[in-house]
Amino acid sequence: MLSHWIDARDERNCWTIPLPDTSNLYLLIEASLLAEKPLKKSASDSHERIRFGNHKNPFFTSLKEKVALYFEKEELSRNGTTHLYLKASFFILTYFLAYGTLLLGHPPVWGALLLCVYLGLAAAAIGFNIMHDGSHGSFSDIQWINVIAAYSINILGGDAVLWKNKHNIIHHTYTNLEGHDQDIAQLPVLRLNSLQKKYYLHRFQHLYCFLVYGLSSLFWVFLLDFIKYFQGKVGNFKLTGMETKDHVIFWISKVTYFTFYLILPALVWGLGPALIGFFVFHFVLGTVLSTVFQLAHVVEEAEFSEEHLSSNRIADEWAVHQLKTTTNFCTSNDWMTWYVGGLNFQVVHHLFPKISHVHYPALNKMVKETCEEQQVIYHEFPSFMSALRSHMKHLKETANA
Ligand SMILES: [Zn+2]
Repeated sequence: MLSHWIDARDERNCWTIPLPDTSNLYLLIEASLLAEKPLKKSASDSHERIRFGNHKNPFFTSLKEKVALYFEKEELSRNGTTHLYLKASFFILTYFLAYGTLLLGHPPVWGALLLCVYLGLAAAAIGFNIMHDGSHGSFSDIQWINVIAAYSINILGGDAVLWKNKHNIIHHTYTNLEGHDQDIAQLPVLRLNSLQKKYYLHRFQHLYCFLVYGLSSLFWVFLLDFIKYFQGKVGNFKLTGMETKDHVIFWISKVTYFTFYLILPALVWGLGPALIGFFVFHFVLGTVLSTVFQLAHVVEEAEFSEEHLSSNRIADEWAVHQLKTTTNFCTSNDWMTWYVGGLNFQVVHHLFPKISHVHYPALNKMVKETCEEQQVIYHEFPSFMSALRSHMKHLKETANA
């Protein structure tokens, strides 16, 4: 019996979605968005579902009321603004300008290396500001623009449907839950929490972690996407939303990517310089993407619960679980907020992923206030460096735990 309804307007603008029960509500909302139809039971049957203590949602109910009132009072759309579209245009134009200059402008070696570094920084910014908001449906009021924004990941070597499965559904529902959240899935070289297998090598992981982060986007493009695609799974979760057109888009995107990022540069510069440029680009991209993620979830303050392992249940309501597992950093730095697409306000993003990041500074005040009122934990690092120190310390401690 459909005994519970959740008003999803905070996340979806205007939808009310019937849910069979109050557990896994976020998974169902996201999956319905992804597939534009209710999540089929079989979509996650390959993995035991975790149930959250969502019965009354006292924290989230109160916070959502404040947020709804804010948007009503200010008469604002929950999606992107002109400021975001100017920023998006800047990164897209400069990205293609840098690529064109590299390929056809015959820059000196130092200039070419700087352009490759810039391409890595701009690719990360496109991911943070355009793809991420588009994928969550918050880049624009117009749905087809969100779809195009979401597919910008295909220009960067990834795939929009694989990303939505891994990020929107799995990571946003099962944040920091070992065995579920694929963003903390163990690579043999890193131990991100004490539930993961320990190797001798890990005692040095705080020293070499940035080498791994630098290589992460190369692994993603060359290996991890293909593993997910051919296995039809992300971790233990079956892929959803992969229709015939998505298979075609996947292969066209991968072939186009290798053509424009490797074959054409090799024809113009020669294979050696093309490979060096490609490596520099990816190293910068991987470092930036991984660092922003790690500072939000893999720090001393973020919780890695063991509760679900024995019972498949988390006692906290879903929103409180997000607050325990997610941290903000450097929120007073406007430049940081601009570049990382508000992901330094990761707490707000995890609570309201369907709202564009341009609103996060305003919403964060309400989050803090509600946390204080209801004595719910709230994590924030005052600076980038303090978050980085905590991340390194966490890696060091986890290696020995
Ligand atoms: Zn997200």
